[in-house]
Amino acid sequence: MKDSRYFNLGLLGWPVEHSLSPVIHQAALEAVGLSGQYRLYPNPPTSEMIIKLKEILEELRCGNLHGLNVTIPHKQTVIPLLDDLTSTARAIGAVNVISLQEGRLIGDNTDAPGFLADLERSMNGGHSGQSRAIVLGAGGAARAVVYALLKAGWKVCVASRRPKQAQELIKELSTISSKPGTSVAAISLTPSSLKSYVSDCDLVVNATPLGMSPHVDAIPWPQQIPLPAGVFIYDLVYNPPETALVRLARSAGLAATTGLGMLVEQAALAFEQWTGLDAPRSAMRAALTAFVQRRDDQSIKQHGG
Ligand code: NAP
Repeated sequence: MKDSRYFNLGLLGWPVEHSLSPVIHQAALEAVGLSGQYRLYPNPPTSEMIIKLKEILEELRCGNLHGLNVTIPHKQTVIPLLDDLTSTARAIGAVNVISLQEGRLIGDNTDAPGFLADLERSMNGGHSGQSRAIVLGAGGAARAVVYALLKAGWKVCVASRRPKQAQELIKELSTISSKPGTSVAAISLTPSSLKSYVSDCDLVVNATPLGMSPHVDAIPWPQQIPLPAGVFIYDLVYNPPETALVRLARSAGLAATTGLGMLVEQAALAFEQWTGLDAPRSAMRAALTAFVQRRDDQSIKQHGG
């Protein structure tokens, strides 16, 4: 029998007009045969911002809205307005999904499990008990990545251009119950600091925006040192479809992926929370890939390529 529920979903943030979330979620709704819409809720950082945040959350509370994604700059500002957080959102200190559960607004973070699921898929199951990762950058996405890696038993080194930022990140995550044998260190993102960590590294994650369109030639890994032999490269950046870092890695014979899979997976986990159905991951990925391809073709036609 057809599921007759109607889902009003959306994304709260600023800016949001270039978000790919509507494409992924609309494809998911259609693939499982649900009616609904995924709207954008732009909320710029003005004096009205908190009032507007409260209004949107009220829509969730009274059932007019059935699920909300949250992006920059509201991933932290929304927290005091919610009734509770999942343990993942609490540990990371950021919310990207809100749902109403038994009348209470619950904030979750699906970036961390979304990253881990896609990493394990991309690495064909994963890693040995003693695997080591270097994470470049120490912002919001790095926080989710480091949390996920520590939970999965990795030894992690966070490299950032402002060493204090990496130190704060590892201090705040130090209370999580990591698997025995994990460790985490903070270093500066310089060739001399990285040198001592590259020899037995299995994974490099780019959690900086370097390489993101329109600055597509930027590479976060310092030119002075070669990428570690046998390492897997996971670039969180997904626009362009092949980043300069991923291209460099592949040309050196290394396995590499962009963050498109993480984008799909974090959306899939949110969709499952909101609808209670298995997310149609293949349809979500296919719609996203087709959309990005169409957009790139149009851009080449307009600007030459
Ligand atoms: P963020 O909070 O602004 O953090 C960015 C980090 O990169 C900071 O540590 C920042 O250092 C560093 N950084 C920026 N420019 C740099 C440069 N030129 N050299 C060295 N380090 C630099 O951003 P975010 O939310 O973590 O996002 C980071 C990237 O991940 C973005 O491209 C985003 O699109 C991507 N992302 C992808 C997914 C996905 O699903 N695939 C999910 C989340 C994020 P400073 O603080 O010193 O600037």
